[in-house]
Amino acid sequence: MSMEGTCPICEAEVSLKEDILVSEILSCPDCHSVLVVEAIDDHRASLREAPAIEEDWGQ
Ligand SMILES: [Zn+2]
Repeated sequence: MSMEGTCPICEAEVSLKEDILVSEILSCPDCHSVLVVEAIDDHRASLREAPAIEEDWGQ
């Protein structure tokens, strides 16, 4: 069995590895958006767009 999720940006079905974990980062194979696993329910993962990485660390 494999894990699946839906890209929140382009609504493509995204196949995920079976042992994916919450808060893992992946990219949509369709639109290449960076997504984060928000929740895992059975064999469905809820994906959301990963927050932009801010390179503002006060330097
Ligand atoms: Zn997408």
